This record gives sequence, C-alpha cells and structure tokens, in this order.
Amino acid sequence: MTTLLVRNAAVLVTMDEERREIADGGIFVEDGFITQVGPTDQLPSTADEILNLSGHLILPGLINTHHHFYQNLTRVVPAAQNSNLFEWLVTLYPIWAGLRPDDVKISTQLALAELALSGCTTASDHLYIYPGACRLDDEIEAAGVIGLRLHASRGSMSLGESKGGLPPDSVVEEENEILKDSQRLIETYHDPEPGSMVQIVVAPCSPFTVTPDLMRESALLARAYGVKLHTHLAEDVDEEVFCQDRFNSRPLTLAESLDWAGEDVWFAHAIHMNADEVSRMAASGIGVAHCPSSNMRLASGIAPVQRYLSAGVKVGLGVDGSASNDSSHMLAEARQAMLISRLGSAVAPEIHGDDSLLTARQALEMATLGGAKVLGRTDVGALKPGMCADFIAISLNRIEFAGAQHDPVSAVVFCHPVNVDYNYVHGKPVVAEGEFLGLEIEDLITKHNKAAQELINR
Ligand SMILES: [Zn+2]
Repeated sequence: MTTLLVRNAAVLVTMDEERREIADGGIFVEDGFITQVGPTDQLPSTADEILNLSGHLILPGLINTHHHFYQNLTRVVPAAQNSNLFEWLVTLYPIWAGLRPDDVKISTQLALAELALSGCTTASDHLYIYPGACRLDDEIEAAGVIGLRLHASRGSMSLGESKGGLPPDSVVEEENEILKDSQRLIETYHDPEPGSMVQIVVAPCSPFTVTPDLMRESALLARAYGVKLHTHLAEDVDEEVFCQDRFNSRPLTLAESLDWAGEDVWFAHAIHMNADEVSRMAASGIGVAHCPSSNMRLASGIAPVQRYLSAGVKVGLGVDGSASNDSSHMLAEARQAMLISRLGSAVAPEIHGDDSLLTARQALEMATLGGAKVLGRTDVGALKPGMCADFIAISLNRIEFAGAQHDPVSAVVFCHPVNVDYNYVHGKPVVAEGEFLGLEIEDLITKHNKAAQELINR
C-alpha cells in the first residue's frame, strides 16, 4: 500500500455534504483513495509521501464536462472569429476535414496539459469528426500519458448537406458504421469502476448533423451497456428554427421523443430552454454542460443557470472546443459562469433571477461536484473518505490575490484566473510547483503549432 499525506493547507474546500471548509486542513490517501480529511493535527503524521501545502488553498480537482480537443488546432482562425454558430461551423468544417490521426493525438495532449495547469483532473471530450484514418482510439491513447481522467465521447455526424444537414457530405459517416464503432469502443475501453481513468460516452453531435434514427439507436446502444449519452442541444436560435422547420418541434421535445431523457443524458449549452422545459429536465434527471465563454464568443445567449439550480437540474462547467473559447482554462470558466449569470440577472431578470446573484462558491460547486454529477461520477468532485484523491492546490501568495486574503475561496473565482501549483489525480502528481510533469511542454507547443499550420494549409 502507498500512502500520501497532504497537510497544513490554509483552507481545504471539501464539497462534502456540509460544504465544510477546513482551516489548516489536509487529507490522508491510501492507494489513490482518500481515507481521512480534517485539520492537520487530526491526521496521521507520517506517510510514504508528505506534501506540505501551507499558504495554499486546496480544492477538489475541477471537472470539465464539454470540450473538443481537436479544435485547439483551429483557435482564432481569422475567417471564423466574428461569426455565430452555423456560419462558424460552415467556415471550419472544410479545415477539420483535413484532420489526421497525429493531429488528434497532439491536440489531445496539448488540451489536457492546458486543462491540467488550470486545475482540471477529469476531462470530458466530444470528438465527432473522423476524416481519413482518425479514430477515438488516437485520443484515448494520447491521453494516457497525461494522467487526467478522460470521458471520451464517440461523437458522430451522419446528416450531410445533400440530406438537409449542415456539414458537408465529405465529413459525415454511415450510421451503421458509427454504431458498430461506438460498440467496439465501449467494449474495448469503458471502465465503470470507482477510480476509472477512461469512460466511453455515446454522443451524436446535434439535431442538425444527425438523423432522428441515429439518436434513437444511440440511446438504445448506450443503455444496453450502461454508458452515458451526450449531445449539443438548444445552443442557438438557428438550431431552434431548424428543429421547428424540419421536425415541427422544439429541441428538447425532439430529444425526448427520441428517448433522450434521463439521468444518463447531458446536453452541452442548453441555453434556449423555457421554464417548462427546465422543469422537464429536472424531472427526468438530464444534466447540463454550461459553457459560458463559448456562448459569449458565438453570441449564442445566456443559459438559465439560476433557473436550473433552483429546479434541481445538475449543472457542470465546460470550456467547450478551443475554436470557440479560445482557451481551456477551468478557473476562467468558473469566473465567466459567475459573471454571465449576473449579467443575465440585469438584462433578463424574469429568466435569470433578480433576488440573488450567482456566488463564487456556486461557480466552484459547478466546476467540481456539479460536473461529477453530470458525468455520473460518485468517486470524484469532493474531498471526503472513499473518494479518489483528485485535488488541486493554489498558492495564495501571488499578486492576483493580494488584498483578497479575507476570503481565499471566493478569490480564486473573483480574481484573475491563475494556473494551479499542484494537480494530483488518484494521488499522483500531474502538476507540481506550477510545472506540468507529463511531457516536455515546450516541445508539445512546437509540435502543436506545426500541426495547426499544416492543417490550415492542407
Ligand atoms: Zn461543443
């Protein structure tokens, strides 16, 4: 058995049932799982490894519920800088059509390194485009050397332009191939056990890129194996118009009619949902990946997060793909979630509430426990006995927090987003003393920039 003692933290945020914040706190870890949490003087005094975190804030590792790693290669593409969703997609599809397996690998590693430095310990990714020889295996294998937990979504697009969909025919796949490959991936990689490092998710891309048949068949397949279902929904007004024209239905009603409702379903964005739809989502247990930066970047709208939280809908945070953010910073996303909700309260109080503003602690809860619930994980998202030792630590002695020492927990959301000093997954360091440990970061950036340039010119 290997033991780890983490001690002397200025404050340790547990996200346990009482939402305890423990001064001079620490944890004791055995083989990657937490066995004790409390003030340092109540913990054992020896261990195989001892990490002294005086002057640091400790939080549960942050959980990213929506991303497209490959889009790191197409950040800030000039032609797609100033468009909303549909035009942005139509501009980028032809570039993404040139993706190769090595592009998937290098962008996966870069995105995960950036996420790790921003405090992420569990990342969900949605890969929905498979040109040439690209496979989800490329992403899973590349992620293995980084050390974060991965929820890899086998995304898909089957409704090309010639059949009334948005993407060009060159980037869509045959539906029976999609389902066969999804099944193969689940059988090869999916691990549902506590402490799991890889889980597979079945994830048709959106109502305007797949057929209703594929949505229904995907739900059947996922439920046969007990894996989660994920898609983009109610992201944009153009999508609402598409659903109305093609299916005479609003997006949620369409999803429900295809068996996409339940605890095993989560939607990215879910911006344009009315009060009745929010209640239906709460009743069926559907979760939300809230992606505030992307929603502002593409002028998509403001998700009704206060309404979701009061109704009891599970809400996690997502940085979304890096072509629409254009960053993979989890603490920055928590800050944007807090700020955009407050803006919503000012411009549309009837939707976003006007009696209480979203707090920094609520934003942190979405980034940790909320994300865990959305992904269906009961072993991460909080620091308490039995949970995985996934935690981050941030030094409070930095210029960003100068003058904010009266509330260091809120400071990491209110003040300028920082990179973390320590990031541990399952009791093992991924970031230590502010340095990413998995790969040589300069080399990774050089390779990634070269791949990005080649992709754009391909
Ligand atoms: Zn997305």
